[in-house]
Amino acid sequence: MNMMVIMQTSLYIHFPFCLKKCLYCDFNSVADARVAPAEYVAALLREMELRAAALPEPASAPTLYFGGGTPSLMGPELVGSVIDAAARFFGLEADAEVTIEANPGTLTREKLAGYRFAGVNRLSLGVQSFDDATLSLLGRIHTARQALDAFSAARGAGFANIGIDLIHSLPGQTPAMWRSALERATDLAPEHVSAYGLSIEEGTPFFRMEERGELPLPGEEEAAAMFRQTGETLGRSRFEHYEISNFARPGFRSRHNQVYWRRGNYLGFGAGAHSFLRTPGFGVRWKNPDVVAPYLVAVAGSLLPEEDRQLLALRDALSEAFFLGLRLLEGVDLSSLVCEFGPAVEEYFAAPIRELTGQGLLTESAGRLHLSSKAIIFANRVFSRFV
Ligand code: SF4
Repeated sequence: MNMMVIMQTSLYIHFPFCLKKCLYCDFNSVADARVAPAEYVAALLREMELRAAALPEPASAPTLYFGGGTPSLMGPELVGSVIDAAARFFGLEADAEVTIEANPGTLTREKLAGYRFAGVNRLSLGVQSFDDATLSLLGRIHTARQALDAFSAARGAGFANIGIDLIHSLPGQTPAMWRSALERATDLAPEHVSAYGLSIEEGTPFFRMEERGELPLPGEEEAAAMFRQTGETLGRSRFEHYEISNFARPGFRSRHNQVYWRRGNYLGFGAGAHSFLRTPGFGVRWKNPDVVAPYLVAVAGSLLPEEDRQLLALRDALSEAFFLGLRLLEGVDLSSLVCEFGPAVEEYFAAPIRELTGQGLLTESAGRLHLSSKAIIFANRVFSRFV
């Protein structure tokens, strides 16, 4: 009897346009109105069709994520057409988690209701700060009031799974201001909170402002205090701290993002989108061109727009398994890694594990290796030992 093989893969859609570029942002996004959303989405649909035809076996998709950029610049009918294509070409599952990142400055009640009707069931709301002066300094297009209104409109439209994104260690921000932001967030009772520390990225206006000494950034001690406050405040409101910067009410962890941290399959569509499949060999990664024009040209010519295709070597795959898996506070299951990678686990990483455990930065319990509570704050230093 022939058993049909189904490949489980998550789906990511990149919408690389914003109304205005935020001053700290180094994401692949442009404030460029020359490409109409409908034209871009037509290319996305074509790319999905081309990719589905190139897959070695039919797919089943547990999650679909619209990221950007500002995907909430897409109208509900365009979002709905992508969801339909995900169902048609990749077997989007009936109970799939379908998330859209939304900028509060782009939402209306009607649009939110349209997203729900189209099949979006999770909203990731880019609030970032509840302080208007800070929002303006960041170059955001919305006010705190608009974020609060967007949240309540989303509830009104039937969203029962809403995440709020916040940034700490902002210019001029004190631990007291950050505590108050966290309290305002928990007052809204979202299902999920992502709280990232601001990082100043080369090439951004903030990078140049910092070089000129124009950004009053908090010092290391204050930034560390804000990081600690995040866990304390959200923990008091019954949020589980499950990833370095992510917190969720029970049952509401981001299913899509956990796929990245667990090295699950995902296919990315749109300019700059990344993809990863666990087979062949130890896995393959590729990405699409960052720039929209060559992406559109490739797809118009019925070519898959991928570039930088990389077959992973055993050591690279194992390294990824550690530094991605250790982002989750539950850590990595060592016996599963030995099953998958064999003696290479011992050969390549026994020494750093011993050293980091000796320093109290990693802890092993019940066969799982995870960051210790004191290491979470400087996790990147730990991860660098696995690269
Ligand atoms: S809205 Fe998001 S993607 Fe767009 S510029 Fe601002 S931070 Fe970057």
